[in-house]
Amino acid sequence: MQETIDLIAHRELRNLRRYTRETGQPTTIGQLDLDPMTNVQSIEIDEEHITVQYNKQTKRRYNANEITHKEWVYKYNDDAEFVDAVRRVIELSRKHMYDLPQNLSCPPGCAECCSGYEPFVNRGDVQRIADHLGMTYDEAMAEYVVARESADGFVVGWLRKVDEEGARSEEAEHKCVFLMGSRSGRHYCGIYEARPSDCREFTPVGCEDVDWSLPRHGQYKTGKPFAPKRRRSAKS
Ligand code: SF4
Ligand code: SF4
Repeated sequence: MQETIDLIAHRELRNLRRYTRETGQPTTIGQLDLDPMTNVQSIEIDEEHITVQYNKQTKRRYNANEITHKEWVYKYNDDAEFVDAVRRVIELSRKHMYDLPQNLSCPPGCAECCSGYEPFVNRGDVQRIADHLGMTYDEAMAEYVVARESADGFVVGWLRKVDEEGARSEEAEHKCVFLMGSRSGRHYCGIYEARPSDCREFTPVGCEDVDWSLPRHGQYKTGKPFAPKRRRSAKS
């Protein structure tokens, strides 16, 4: 078996683009961490050997000639058990590369993390949410944040939870006040553009809460955005 890493990278890039086209979920080339592969040109595995070939671009002059190519080849072949262990590691990393598009983006409609977790918010988050909803900072704090300032004053609290009827809740497993949709696989963030930094930075890579029953194909259409139940006139 022999694969050129460049080919793997191009194939994965095509997979990413197709995934974005089919699901509408954004993916970027930056999400492909190919650094460890940069100098590996090929990995060849047979029953007894694993041969890893590295190429590195160098510019060096030797007499009148410019040498631009340097190559190393490592061959592991003394210990069958070792070869087998390395083969399994390589296959595992290949599998992760094949699965990459799935791991880089959440299946549309999954919102398991919007229940169970409480996103912390800072002043900037609260102000952004307030502006988005046409409210004042104080109104947004009172309506949607459980105020609990961190020791350094940066975090001002976390987003409220509500139960199935929409009543305020302290239960950890209840959902975020801004989570919209009720049927399985039909969830979406009601303030997506204004969501807190905690939610923006949350990564699906390695997420163990993912709802695997959800399809990843097809365009996902969200419903109406979150709208405040009532407006207050108080100013911050
Ligand atoms: S703000 Fe949006 S993304 Fe963040 S937990 Fe709530 S529903 Fe989920
Ligand atoms: S895959 Fe994980 S991070 Fe993404 S929405 Fe589902 S639970 Fe949240």
